[in-house]
Amino acid sequence: MSEHVDVLIVGAGLSGIGAAYHLQTKLPGKSYAILEGREAIGGTWDLFRYPGIRSDSDLHTLGYAFKPWTEEQSIADGPAILDYVRKTASENGIERHIHFGHKVVRADWSSADARWTVEATRTDSGETVTFTASFLLSAGGYYRYDEGYTPHFEGTERFAGEIVHPQHWPEDLDYSGKRVVVIGSGATAVTLVPAMTDKAEHVTMLQRSPSYIITLPAKDPIANQLRRFLPNHVAYAITRRKNVALQTFFFKLSRRYPRFVAKLLRAGVKRQLPEGYDVDTHFKPSYDPWDQRLCAVPNGDLFKAISKGRASVVTDRIDSFTERGLALSSGRELEADVIVTATGLNLVAFGGVEYAVDGKPITLSETLAYKGMMLSGVPNFIFAVGYTNASWTLKVDLVFEYMCRLIEHMDASGYDRCVPIPADPAMETRPLLDFASGYVQRSLDRFPKQGATEPWQLAQDYRHDVKSLRTGSVEDGAMRFSSSGVAEPVAA
Ligand SMILES: Cc1cc2nc3c(=O)[nH]c(=O)nc-3n(C[C@H](O)[C@H](O)[C@H](O)COP(=O)(O)OP(=O)(O)OC[C@H]3O[C@@H](n4cnc5c(N)ncnc54)[C@H](O)[C@@H]3O)c2cc1C
Repeated sequence: MSEHVDVLIVGAGLSGIGAAYHLQTKLPGKSYAILEGREAIGGTWDLFRYPGIRSDSDLHTLGYAFKPWTEEQSIADGPAILDYVRKTASENGIERHIHFGHKVVRADWSSADARWTVEATRTDSGETVTFTASFLLSAGGYYRYDEGYTPHFEGTERFAGEIVHPQHWPEDLDYSGKRVVVIGSGATAVTLVPAMTDKAEHVTMLQRSPSYIITLPAKDPIANQLRRFLPNHVAYAITRRKNVALQTFFFKLSRRYPRFVAKLLRAGVKRQLPEGYDVDTHFKPSYDPWDQRLCAVPNGDLFKAISKGRASVVTDRIDSFTERGLALSSGRELEADVIVTATGLNLVAFGGVEYAVDGKPITLSETLAYKGMMLSGVPNFIFAVGYTNASWTLKVDLVFEYMCRLIEHMDASGYDRCVPIPADPAMETRPLLDFASGYVQRSLDRFPKQGATEPWQLAQDYRHDVKSLRTGSVEDGAMRFSSSGVAEPVAA
């Protein structure tokens, strides 16, 4: 016997828990379940355990619209974010809807039955269990949980020290008094480097090329002041608006005047480093701001660690691992006791599930993303993927609002199927994510595409999405609705 629910959510991370809240608040009559492959709530914020793990967004926008962030720190550490997600689940009775240790492997839509049949593997017994659902929501994040990305390096077997990937941080790793090299220049590397100076003898950030880095205050004085004399939800809403406005302004400024913003960022970095520091070699990227995600450092902690001589940056290429460390292309050898490969994630779309419509497998790269939250030709399927240029939750909160409106509309009109279909099947397409970062480029062929015009174009713009997802009509011509028994073309 399979369990049937109105909405089946895959994933109990920040997104899955947020989706559950929206569903049970706005559509209390609907049944739902969450299938979670791990034994814990929180996804990213439970998985990553490396020293210093934190957000680089402020929690006033990474937090849910419905649950004020009331901590002093606006850029928060992993455990505080995990606690926030867990509390949201427990305070709202969401936990009892979660089936832990259920890894979804396959989902097949049947047009005849107007429902999804979803197969999950129980991680304890290996048993396959089946659920059916009228709507399927993928909140499975965007990367593989079992394995982080490590490029091939020559000679790793020769290295006498320890090699660690941030995604699989050994609980008992003692780096006290050790020489640590962190390979990478992204958000994880710039977090790890200052954090590990607490115990390490010295931490070196070894990067092939620099990233843009911006210093942000760890605490937001305006947010903290507002909370003193306004109710939490009012103060939170004001800070959230302020931060959205500032982030949008800065992003647009960067795209419009990249050279000006590059100069501004460089000046910010230079000001925080010792006189004569080689800023151009280590902190001047070859691309424009926001061609890749900007790295944020709270209170300039990275620059403080460098200024104190506890950390340093080397910009070079790795030739090979040696017994003592790393041989670099410049001929230099970098000695280390611990090498951390902060080299990124392995992207995977929609939980790595095999999707099919009426038995026909879906090739994601042949689908088009509709409003950045549904797929052309795939009925009653929604995915929660956040912004790359702003906080994730700003987008997924809007997606869940839209999902509730869509289901409400279908109920009121007697429909049980909805599927977005482009009017012009030969529409010009481009990659879903126009990010130059290596981890994005490596995986684009396994992701849906976007079109050239609305609603097939990914806006990456909160204000635009508020209009499109919160207030725009769900009947927009591209979304086709139908009822059981009425034939409707659904294949992509
Ligand atoms: C180190 C790090 C820092 C980040 N910092 C920020 C930040 O500051 N700001 C920002 O906006 N974004 C940030 N992100 C992106 C971040 O992942 C999102 O903000 C957010 O946490 C995503 O939540 P999610 O629930 O959508 O996905 P996840 O957190 O990835 O959770 C997905 C859940 O789904 C489960 N799952 C996946 N596949 C299946 C399956 N097939 N079956 C069952 N369960 C499944 C997973 O086990 C997991 O619990 C960061 C990411 C990382 C890795």
